[in-house]
Amino acid sequence: MPSTATLAEARDQLARWIDEARRFVIFTGAGISTESGIPDFRGPNGIWTKVNPNQYDFQAYLADPDMRRQRWQLFCEGGIGAAAEPNAAHYAVAELVALGIADCVITQNVDGLHTRSGVPDDRLFDLHGSNRFAKCLSCWTRYPREEALAWPPDPVEGVPLCPRCGGLMKSGGVSFGEPMPPYETAEAIRRSRAADLFLVVGSSLVVYPAAAMPAYAAERGARLVILTIGETPLDRAADLLIEAKAAEFLPGVVEQVKLRRGIA
Ligand code: ZN
Repeated sequence: MPSTATLAEARDQLARWIDEARRFVIFTGAGISTESGIPDFRGPNGIWTKVNPNQYDFQAYLADPDMRRQRWQLFCEGGIGAAAEPNAAHYAVAELVALGIADCVITQNVDGLHTRSGVPDDRLFDLHGSNRFAKCLSCWTRYPREEALAWPPDPVEGVPLCPRCGGLMKSGGVSFGEPMPPYETAEAIRRSRAADLFLVVGSSLVVYPAAAMPAYAAERGARLVILTIGETPLDRAADLLIEAKAAEFLPGVVEQVKLRRGIA
């Protein structure tokens, strides 16, 4: 059983597979950011024990100006992750991308920490959007957060209106019941299917369709490695299960890969 491997054995195994891989895709969830002080969603101290998920319902946002006003206020105050800093796991992931070893990062997180740790936009597919930008719900234009924050909310609609088309603005994060961003989703599926090594970091793999990505990869024969605390529905499909904190585990993996590649 893979789960009986020691952490040192798991580190060496993963480093060997990364070194061998031609298309290595990294998929991250809330667990990669818990070491940055951002609570996860579903754990015992998770966000959903403190915040009513109804506040993040898309239909309610469309229907109710007061809901929009509250949500825009939260966005202006920073939202999830505004005060957090990337941790060692984010930097390890960013280094694997920068070295050309990882193909891309697919994330469920809206906290922007992959960007702030140095993953370029064309290597990052944020399936649930990002608090780094605001978007228009009519024409889907994205605006940098700093720019949108300066716009006064419309007194009737509760949120600013799109300068281009007059549509309702919303934070870049995807709410419950809101469609997934089409480009990011299509590209994440394509790259998952093309992967020969797929690493899950810090996701319980229960939120679909994001959680389908590792299944797409495994169906096409990719090696599947799951690094997270707790069980996932895909554990039985995994080639290697690692129960460890990503911020403690991943930097050692990167060091091993660099040793193998002769990178100082
Ligand atoms: Zn617009």
